[in-house]
Amino acid sequence: MGRQIGSSLAMTDPSLEAEAKTIHDRLLTVDTHIDTGPGFMTSILDPGRITHAQVDLPKMRIGGLDAGFFIVYTGQGTCDDEGYAAARLAAEQKFIGISRMFRAYPKEIGHARTAKDVSEIHATGRLVGLIGMENAYPLGGSIDDIPMWAARGVCYISITHFGNNQFGCSSNPNFSRGDSKEDTGLTAFGEKLVSAMNDAGIMVDLSHVGRRTSLEALSASRAPVIASHSSVNAVFEHSRNLDDEQLHAIRDKGGVAQMCAFRGYLGSVATPVSSALSALRNRLGLNSSSDTLNASPDKLAAYRRERAEIYSQHPDITVTHFVDHIDYAVKKIGIDHVGIASDFDGGGGIGGWDTAEESPNVTIELLRRNYSETDLEKLWGGNILRVMNEVQALAR
Ligand SMILES: [Zn+2]
Repeated sequence: MGRQIGSSLAMTDPSLEAEAKTIHDRLLTVDTHIDTGPGFMTSILDPGRITHAQVDLPKMRIGGLDAGFFIVYTGQGTCDDEGYAAARLAAEQKFIGISRMFRAYPKEIGHARTAKDVSEIHATGRLVGLIGMENAYPLGGSIDDIPMWAARGVCYISITHFGNNQFGCSSNPNFSRGDSKEDTGLTAFGEKLVSAMNDAGIMVDLSHVGRRTSLEALSASRAPVIASHSSVNAVFEHSRNLDDEQLHAIRDKGGVAQMCAFRGYLGSVATPVSSALSALRNRLGLNSSSDTLNASPDKLAAYRRERAEIYSQHPDITVTHFVDHIDYAVKKIGIDHVGIASDFDGGGGIGGWDTAEESPNVTIELLRRNYSETDLEKLWGGNILRVMNEVQALAR
């Protein structure tokens, strides 16, 4: 296991830690949001080896992270033919990278399209890869490609990313592109998208989606709905987090909210840390999540090195903050509707869970708070797989 930050982790007693590791190894652990960096599945970033990335296959093995949703991510651009064409190309490149990983390492990782696939592949001792799509923007001016993406194994699609799009409003509108300040809700085209996703058995994902748009998507959906990587607003107020009404609506629909291990969404990062980090990001030209996703491996390695240095000098956002969000969500909507997402290689990572290798630390902290093994099974994957199964069963 990697470095342990967070005072409560350091105070964990050795017998609990040993028990946690045994339980962690028995669990089928699923991380619902893993981004893929630039050059994924080229000589720049070969996930079959130990890499500079937070997730690669060896790190998943070491950390007992059995399954992950790898993400076809597209940053938001303009909603016109030119923007759509560029987005489609970007999405295609992400998809090709992920597919190449499955083809290159069939003995290490299997591609799962259903919950049944996940357990079958896991039973063979291999890692499990699933595919999610972050931002429906590359679908462009038509939803005709939905069945194709379903056939390719895409299990969820988030309606928006940072910035409003043709389907609805984002939790983080882009004012410089002229986005409205108010969430104007799911568009008529967005309703068609939700319906087409229901038909195809693709989970509707509300992470990054504006509040009103998310509630309208929830009512429009005939199937359970998820938030693939979002934490809770009552613990830490942030536009990316879910409020109680959203949490309740997700539960009432039979869905699941996957808490997100992203420092900035979990707690208030100390002022000296945030100013040091923003100075570092400025210096390296890493000011947005798309800068990070498109940065060279050398630059990212330098960033991680210097960032670790900054964190080591100040109190960090850790696994304890992360589990505070899980605790709140479980108390609010129940153990059957909460799950776990890292957002690794897309900005995610916290003290104690900063790479896939450190995944047992989440289990340690959950056990320390008296969650049972059955609870852990649900949080670590049982819930999301149940929802995926239901959504696919309801498909036409
Ligand atoms: Zn995201």
